[in-house]
Amino acid sequence: MTRKKLATFWLGGCSGCHMSLLDIDERLLELTRVADIVKSPVVDGKHLPPCDIALVEGSVTSDEHWQELLHIRKQASTLVSLGDCAITTNITGMRNYFKTSAVLDNAYRHMPSNDGLGSMPDDAALLSLNDKVYPLHEIVQVDYMIPGCPPAADIIFYVLNELLNDREPDLEEVKKLKYG
Ligand code: SF4
Repeated sequence: MTRKKLATFWLGGCSGCHMSLLDIDERLLELTRVADIVKSPVVDGKHLPPCDIALVEGSVTSDEHWQELLHIRKQASTLVSLGDCAITTNITGMRNYFKTSAVLDNAYRHMPSNDGLGSMPDDAALLSLNDKVYPLHEIVQVDYMIPGCPPAADIIFYVLNELLNDREPDLEEVKKLKYG
């Protein structure tokens, strides 16, 4: 079996899903026997080559996320939504109840900065937030979803190990694993 290429991404999320990924602990070594991690917040890859599996944490909140997700979809044979923010928007999507301008007012413009210079000087310094937060599957085709906030490490390992070894994850096996 040829070695696989695995990539992981962090869009609009809190990084908790990646913390759960790292909770796989020593089983990460098992995965690295069959796969190279070619891009991830936890490695130093600068560019995304064509890859077999992309795990994506977080939802799409900005133009930058949108473009990145399209690129990930183009490069990855299999795209997995990792965690509830990627699947439903979850916590990140709570801002969908408010206008984006109100969110920026309360999170940035009207908040004292911590650099001693007062409030943020202009909108150029702010993210180009979309009017709405989107789950991944509303923008691209998603092949698998691993729910949870964050997903349990045992479930992440099970799904990844199956996919990297060319096996289809079995939902009945997932149900036997500790959830959260
Ligand atoms: Fe964080 Fe939960 Fe969202 Fe994962 S699903 S990014 S742990 S808030």
